[in-house]
Formats: sequence, structure tokens, C-alpha cells
Amino acid sequence: MAKKLPSVDAVMVGVGWTGGILAAELTKAGLSVVGLERGQYRDSNVAFAFPRIRDELKYGIRFGLAQDVSRDTLTFRNSAEQTALPMRQLGSFLLGDGTGGAGAHWNGQTWRWTPYDFEIYSQTVSRYGKGAIDDGMQIQDWGLTYQELEPFFDRFEYTAGIGGTAGNLQGKVQPGGNPFEGPRARAYPNPPMKRSQLGDLFQTATQSLGYHPFPGPSANMTQAYTNPDGQALGACMYCGFCERFGCDYNAKASPNNTVLPTALATNKFEIRHDANVVRVNMDSSGKRAVSVTYIDLITGEEIEQPAEMIFLTSFTFGNVKLLMVSGIGEIYNPTTNKGTVGKNYTYQLSAGAGGTITGKDLKVFAGAGAESVVIDDFNGDHFDHTGLGFLHGGSISASSSGARPIQSNPGGSAWGSAWKHAAAAAYNTSVGIGAQVSSLPFRENHLDLDPTYRDAYGLPLVRMTFDYRGNESKRSAYLTGITTKILTEMGAKNVTGRALPEHYSIVPYQSTHNQGGAIMGLDPSTSVVNPYMQHHQVSNLFVVGASSFPHNSGFNPTGTVGAVTYRLADAIVNRYVKKPGSLM
Ligand SMILES: Cc1cc2nc3c(=O)[nH]c(=O)nc-3n(C[C@H](O)[C@H](O)[C@H](O)COP(=O)(O)OP(=O)(O)OC[C@H]3O[C@@H](n4cnc5c(N)ncnc54)[C@H](O)[C@@H]3O)c2cc1C
Ligand code: SF4
Repeated sequence: MAKKLPSVDAVMVGVGWTGGILAAELTKAGLSVVGLERGQYRDSNVAFAFPRIRDELKYGIRFGLAQDVSRDTLTFRNSAEQTALPMRQLGSFLLGDGTGGAGAHWNGQTWRWTPYDFEIYSQTVSRYGKGAIDDGMQIQDWGLTYQELEPFFDRFEYTAGIGGTAGNLQGKVQPGGNPFEGPRARAYPNPPMKRSQLGDLFQTATQSLGYHPFPGPSANMTQAYTNPDGQALGACMYCGFCERFGCDYNAKASPNNTVLPTALATNKFEIRHDANVVRVNMDSSGKRAVSVTYIDLITGEEIEQPAEMIFLTSFTFGNVKLLMVSGIGEIYNPTTNKGTVGKNYTYQLSAGAGGTITGKDLKVFAGAGAESVVIDDFNGDHFDHTGLGFLHGGSISASSSGARPIQSNPGGSAWGSAWKHAAAAAYNTSVGIGAQVSSLPFRENHLDLDPTYRDAYGLPLVRMTFDYRGNESKRSAYLTGITTKILTEMGAKNVTGRALPEHYSIVPYQSTHNQGGAIMGLDPSTSVVNPYMQHHQVSNLFVVGASSFPHNSGFNPTGTVGAVTYRLADAIVNRYVKKPGSLM
């Protein structure tokens, strides 16, 4: 029988950005919070210290900071006709694990999604009519607007010290910024990143093509910064060992150097590591969550942690899995289109072009996770889709994140002296520009529980059914055409487009931008949580993060994840604790 601990005000299942933001805000308001994290304790000062953190083999290739798939993974298939098989090695995405979750080793590209994203269904129908929506496409409005989220985008940007150039200040378009962004109340807290040589070429080329380039917003600090909670960060050194690595300069905003120390300083927050939550326990009415059960991975003991409020902050797959194995809500069935848990799983699609630029010293070894020049002209509904046969789009960028020696293996040869010569010739001349392409929800793409495979704790694995459907490939091909045009304008030779392959593969790394499965909305028959990420039927259960996003935009998600999480924290502290119940 599980050991039962004393109750606390709130429990966070998972300690990444979402768990950390909520822990900071709730403890500052005097609430007691326990964070249960399945991964190990990581002291950034030790774990991210130079020179060990620059071990490319360990972190860049063997994903030393990511989830241990021998304990828990998921199964995958492209369609319901196939048998899903377990993902035995990480590939397409690198799930977070340990203190700070994926936020400890992310890039730091920190976006506000477009106003169109939050009202995608109604704005699409109003501009193009219902006929523009593909068969089986399940886009829906989120039940909240960009305007409602704006103060919380701001909160996240100031907590994480984002550097960038404002594009729209209080409704006035600003020179040098993104003219398509939603209005912001004030500028970014820090100036933008320096522009790389590749960025210079992209800036000039896109301007001459009539587009609107601007510096990508960055959580890699552009100068020393102290956030509103008093957490101090150093300036980025453009070391190039950013994505997949912790930062030895304390210059990449992460939960570890912002919200977690803030929460811990209150003495109201306790993180328990090696604590794998296996169940959310309900009372007999089925309308109230009373506790979570976890396995202490050191002792093997089963422990029950009661709490007044339970927050699932265990990323998309963890959140959806815990709802399903705990029997909370009906699992989505694509055949009957009934049930909501697991519905609208989306990812981040891609497009891009590669080529060679000679005669310039591009210094590709240097860079930072978010160092980029971007155009937003082809994202959201910023361009007329009439006659194009697809909706939405993507942001296009020249990113300079640093070409690390093992991962960057240009030249086409794989071994021996031929490889050495080819790599030496191609290293500083091979270039690419890419698009982060939106992923819209389709009836067949979903998450459920695998009937065969189980994790180390005896629970069924999450089963992913995902492929490119409807007109997704048309959107990618369109953006590939634009990237090809830009790269050619930049003076590149041998330019080749990189459109989507025919089917999604879970093997090569693409992004850790996995969305949906516990989506938000106003209608409980088509969504799991309300726009505060509060469970429709269980009002003291909150399912937090990108699992609540009904679709994926043409940007990385974490700026928007931060905003919806701050909005929830604000509602808990200012309303829920005074009057528990529905926040709507
Ligand atoms: C390599 C990489 C680069 C990225 N770059 C960017 C970027 O540039 N811009 C951007 O916007 N986004 C980026 N992302 C995505 C970004 O990191 C995530 O959106 C964000 O960190 C998600 O925060 P979260 O709190 O929802 O989840 P996570 O950070 O994943 O935290 C969830 C935590 O829950 C724990 N957990 C899971 N299940 C359980 C359980 N059953 N019991 C206990 N604990 C559990 C996990 O161990 C994990 O620590 C990147 C991600 C990766 C991996
Ligand atoms: S590029 Fe900058 S933020 Fe990223 S790890 Fe290096 S110093 Fe840190």
C-alpha cells in the first residue's frame, strides 16, 4: 500500500517551464507547492560547468539531458492500419527530463503566436469561407484572444529576459521589428542578438525581395540581465553549444536560473526528484482530484501526495498519458470522433533550402540557439491564401546556432580521407535556411494508449498516430519555393529545396514541438480543458502546457506556453484561491 504524505496546497507533476512558472507564482502568493520530477536533480553550476558540458558526443549525439527511453517511451505509427512500434531511441524530438525539463537545454527562440492563431477557425471562415478547410481538418478557436494573452506574454518575456526588436508597440508598427506581430504594450527587456554573417546576407536578400526581416527574439541573453524576481543572468558568448546543452555562462534563460530559484527562495517549494507520477487519484464523485501517486525511483516505494490543486506539467505526452491511465475523461476515437483526450495531436512541419556560399568567411562555428534573422511574411494569415489550397504558413529564418563538429558533417562523404577533405571544404560554405511550418489538426492524428507495450512501471505506452494529411505538403512545398528564392538571392549556388517527405518519420530530429491531446476550448464536447487549462469536469485539475494547444503555429511554442501558464497562475492567485471552482 502506498505511503500517504501530508497534503499541500498544490502539486506540480513535472518541473520544467510550466511547473516552474506555477511554482514561483503560487509560492510567492504564500501557497505550499511540491514539484514531483521523474528525472534527476541537476545543479546547473556543476552539471553545466565548462569543459564537461561541451561534450558533443554525450549531449549533442547521445542526448544526455533528455528522457531515458528504456523507462518510458511511446509507440508510433503513421496510420490506424499499421501496428505501432516503440521508439527505442530518441530521434524526432528530445523530451525533457530532470530539473528544468527541456527548458534546461532548449534553444531559446521565444515567440508570441499570431493573433490569427487564437481565432483560427472564425477568421478563416470569415475570410475564405468554410470550403477552405480541408476534409478532416479540426481547427478550432481557442476561446481566448491575443489581446487577453498580451500581458502574460510580457510577463514571460521579462522573466526570461528576451532580447529582440519590437515590431508593433501599442498598435504602431516599429522599424526593424516584425510588422506582423500583435500589438505589444512595451518593448522587449533586452536588445536583439548580434547578426551573423549569414544573417547579414539573409537581411539584404529578403529586403531586396520586398519582405520584412527582423532579429529573432532570443532567451540567450544579449547583455547581463536581472529579471523582475531578482534572478541575474550573464551575457551570451555565442559559443555554439546551445541546443541540447546547458549554458556554462548562465546566459540562457531556463527554469533552472529563473523561476525555480524564485520558488525555492520562498521556502514554500520542495522539489522531489526521481519521483515518477503514475496516477492522478479522484474522489468517489469523480469530480475532484485528491492526490497523485508516484514511484520513488531510488527506493521503489509507492507514495501518495495529496493536494488541494493538481497541475499536470509533464509536457504533452506525460499530461495526456496521466489523464488516460487515470481514467479521467473519454479517450478520443477517430472513427467515431467521440472522446476528447488524445485529440488534435500536432507537430511542427518543416521546409527549407540548402546550398553553398563561397568567398565569404561565414564563421559557422559561432552562434547561439536563437541567433537568427526571420521573416514572418508567410506565417499565419499574413498573406492571401486564396487559390493556394492550404491554410496557415510558417516563419522563415537564417539561423546561426553554431555548426558543431560532429553534428555538422557536410560534404557528402561518410568516412576516411574522402570525408576529411569533403568536410573541410564544405564546413564553412554549406548553408541552409529553414521554415518552421504550422501543423494543423486532422481527425486521424491523435494519441491514445498502446494495447501491447508498457513502460517500466507497468503502464501502457502512449501511442502516436501521425502523418502529413490534407494539404500539408502543399504548404511545405510553397514555403520551400520561397526559401529557395531567398537563398538564391543571397548568392548561394547548388540550391536545393527541402520539402516534406511523403510520410512523417520519427527517426531524424525535427523539433520538440509536440502539441495537443488535452486541448483547450469553450465546448467540453470538443476539448479537455477550458482556456485556463482547467479541466472541464474536474475543476481542481489543471493540464498545463502545449498539450492544450488546438493546433501548432509557424513558430516555436514556448513563448506562448509561458503566456498561457502565467495567465493561469494569475487566475489561481487572484481568483481561484479565494473562490475555488470554474475560472470561466
Ligand atoms: C532540444 C530542444 C530545443 C528546443 N528549442 C526551443 C526553442 O528554441 N523555442 C521554443 O519555443 N521551444 C523550444 N523547445 C521546446 C521547449 O523546450 C518546450 O516547449 C518547453 O520546455 C516545455 O516546457 P514544459 O514545462 O511544458 O515541459 P518540459 O520542459 O518537458 O517539462 C516536463 C517535465 O515533466 C517531467 N515528467 C514527465 N512525466 C512525468 C511523470 N510521470 N512524473 C514526474 N515527472 C514527469 C519531465 O521529466 C520533465 O522534466 C525545445 C526543446 C528541445 C528539447
Ligand atoms: S550560445 Fe550563448 S546562451 Fe547558448 S549556451 Fe552558449 S553562451 Fe549560453
